[in-house]
Amino acid sequence: GKSADDVLKEADTAMYSGKADGRNAIRFFHPDMEASARYHLVMERDLRAALQVSELELHYQPQVDGDGRIIGAEALLRWTHPVRGPIAPAEFIPIAEERGLIVDLGNWVFDRAFSRLRDWSRNGEPHLPVLSINVSSRQFRHHDFIRDLTERLSGSGVSPERVMLEITESTVMDDLHGALDHMRRLKALGFRFSLDDFGVGYSSLSQLKQLPFDQLKIDQSFIRDIGRDPSAEIICQTIIAMGENLGMQIIAEGVEQDRHFDFLNRLGCAGFQGHHVLEPVSEPEYLAFLASREQPHGRRA
Ligand code: C2E
Ligand code: MG
Ligand code: MG
Repeated sequence: GKSADDVLKEADTAMYSGKADGRNAIRFFHPDMEASARYHLVMERDLRAALQVSELELHYQPQVDGDGRIIGAEALLRWTHPVRGPIAPAEFIPIAEERGLIVDLGNWVFDRAFSRLRDWSRNGEPHLPVLSINVSSRQFRHHDFIRDLTERLSGSGVSPERVMLEITESTVMDDLHGALDHMRRLKALGFRFSLDDFGVGYSSLSQLKQLPFDQLKIDQSFIRDIGRDPSAEIICQTIIAMGENLGMQIIAEGVEQDRHFDFLNRLGCAGFQGHHVLEPVSEPEYLAFLASREQPHGRRA
C-alpha cells in the first residue's frame, strides 16, 4: 500500500542506520529508524546553528600527579541548547560525525582552545599545563586535518608543545598506516599524542607499539571497578607496567574516590583525572583552581 517513493525513502533510512552502525551491515527498515533519523536531522540543524551563536563552550578538567601537582588539563566541549538545555558530548559528537559536521566542530574547538592558551599566557597566568584536546576519528582522518590544525595554531601564536591530541584506539586501528602518517607528521612539528579510553577497544599490542603515543589513558570502566573487581585491578596494574616499559605516561581517568587514587598511586600511575581532583569546570573556575594550586600549601589531591 505504499508508493515507490515511500519504499525508497525507507530503504534510504535503513541504509543510514547501517552506515551509522559502522557500515558493512544489513538493516531492515523499522519505523523507529525514522524517529531516530528525524531526531538526528533536527540535532544537525541545531548544531549548525550552535556553531554560529554562543551555545558552545569549553570546560577544563585538570590532571594531577601523585603529589597533587598539576601536570595537564583536558578541554571538554559543552553545548547548551536554547530549548533542551545542556546536551552531553556523547550524544551530539556521534551525530556531528555521522552528519559531516565534525570538521567544523573540531575546528571550533581548536580555535577556542588556542585563543584561550594565547590569552592565558599573555595575562601571565602562572604554571600553565599542557592542554589535551579530543579529536574524533573522522576529524583526524580528514585530508585537511593537518592543515586545519597547523594553520589555526600558527595563527594563534601558541606553541605545539602545549597541545596534546587525544585519539582513541578505533581511530588508529581503522586505518593504521594513515594514522601513523598523520601522527609522525604532527609529532615532527612538536604535538603530543594521548591514547584515550585505553583497554576497551581492540588494539593489537604489536600495532600499538609502532605508534608514537606519549600518553595512555586507562579507561574509566577499569578505574570504577577498583576495590570491587580484582580483574579490573589487574588490568590497571598491567597497563601501568606496560606503559612504563613502552615509555608512555599513564593517566587514570574517572578517578572518583580515595580508594581509586590510593590503589593507582601505589602502582606508580603518573597522572590522575576525575572528580576526586575536580570535575570539568568553566574557564574562570579552572583558572581559580590553577591559582589555588600555586599556593605553597595547596590542597593535595
Ligand atoms: P573522554 O575524552 O574520555 O572524556 C572524559 C569524560 O569523562 C568526560 O565526559 C568527563 O566529563 C568525564 N569525567 C571526568 N571525570 C570523571 C569522573 O570522575 N567520573 C565520571 N563518571 N566521569 C568523569 P564528557 O565531558 O561528557 O565527554 C564525553 C566524551 O565526549 C569524551 O570522552 C570525548 O570522547 C567526547 N568529547 C568531549 N569533548 C570533545 C571535543 O571537544 N571534541 C571531540 N571530538 N570529542 C569530545
Ligand atoms: Mg579525552
Ligand atoms: Mg576518555
